[in-house]
Amino acid sequence: MGDSFGDFAIFKQPAIIRLSYHKRTGKCVSVDTKVIRMDEQHIDREMLLEAGDIIKAGGLVAFPTETVYGLGGDALNPASSRKIYEAKGRPSDNPLIVHIADLEALDAIVREVPPEAEKLAEAFWPGPLTMILHKSDLVPYETTGGLDTVAVRMPVHKVAREFIRAAGGYVAAPSANRSGRPSPTVAKYVAEDMDGRIEMIIDGGDVEIGLESTIVDLTVPEPMILRPGYITKKMLEEVLSRVEEDCTLMRADSGQAPKAPGMKYRHYAPKGDLTIISGAEEAVIEYINEQLERQRLAGKKTGVIGTDKTIGKYHADVCKSAGNREKENTIAKELYRILREFDDESVEVIYSEAFDASGIGQAIMNRLLKAAGHKVIEIK
Ligand code: AMP
Ligand code: MG
Repeated sequence: MGDSFGDFAIFKQPAIIRLSYHKRTGKCVSVDTKVIRMDEQHIDREMLLEAGDIIKAGGLVAFPTETVYGLGGDALNPASSRKIYEAKGRPSDNPLIVHIADLEALDAIVREVPPEAEKLAEAFWPGPLTMILHKSDLVPYETTGGLDTVAVRMPVHKVAREFIRAAGGYVAAPSANRSGRPSPTVAKYVAEDMDGRIEMIIDGGDVEIGLESTIVDLTVPEPMILRPGYITKKMLEEVLSRVEEDCTLMRADSGQAPKAPGMKYRHYAPKGDLTIISGAEEAVIEYINEQLERQRLAGKKTGVIGTDKTIGKYHADVCKSAGNREKENTIAKELYRILREFDDESVEVIYSEAFDASGIGQAIMNRLLKAAGHKVIEIK
């Protein structure tokens, strides 16, 4: 075809070809991304062996965990870690978490397992807890961002664990988003960020928790939370009598750099300009509605993050409920999806209610504050 019929020329639809180019060499590095579907009830071992072989050959596979989707590569292969940074567009001083499937795998990658680590592993592994320990020589500096310590987690998600085993036991995996975007909680968003950049995506449906793991540093005199998550300070203190918190977690003005290198970057950001409004419910609603009107007159597309109770009271172009304040787990699960949906709908200005900064609410607020670049207005 491509033939001409009288005055008309019929052109073939061009195939959609996705290409990316190596920053330094200019070489094309596009790959075909295969998507396979598998949930915890329907494990396909043959598919997992294929996924494992990709990792062993130095390739990348995105996979579901209970927290968010991970972007996996061989944690013991420096070239794989470099590829992860490249695929994510992530600064290489931001270390990766090494995922293991069995406790026996821990010994080989750390210098020692302190008693606190044993206790935490017994209480929370497999699960959404990451521990920082001194690394062994087996772990390349490419994986740890040049640090002598390594972050280790054993996820509980069955697909994740079977995949890690098939991949040789050590999978370095940050969240499977392009750097600066909200972490993906469904495979669709992994594909949006990673299609053409990685060899495979394992689509395991919705994740369970929706926020990244709690990170605890066990290489300092007192165990210290570097990133809040589903496992709260209170839960940790039931196992270890004392747990400190990095003072930079909830504040932009502490004057100190966060202790987890990754926490210093503006993460989780939607494309629209996000501001958090805190204060008494009615006053917050009134203030947000005033701002919405002002933005609307300026020609901006507006959005609001509220709750089931309040969402009907807002006059924004796009109103999204994060759920029910009494059930914070649902809010955690919805947050990143909502931030992505505002992007999908090209919302330019977003106002969000604040959430309670205790329990898992602390993790929710920590991520929301980062998404907002710490822009908070308190209504007295
Ligand atoms: P992500 O993989 O996107 O969940 O991010 C991993 C987080 O773990 C980042 O904030 C890192 O800075 C942090 N992290 C990983 N390894 C270490 C380490 N050895 N010491 C301190 N923080 C770490
Ligand atoms: Mg991340």
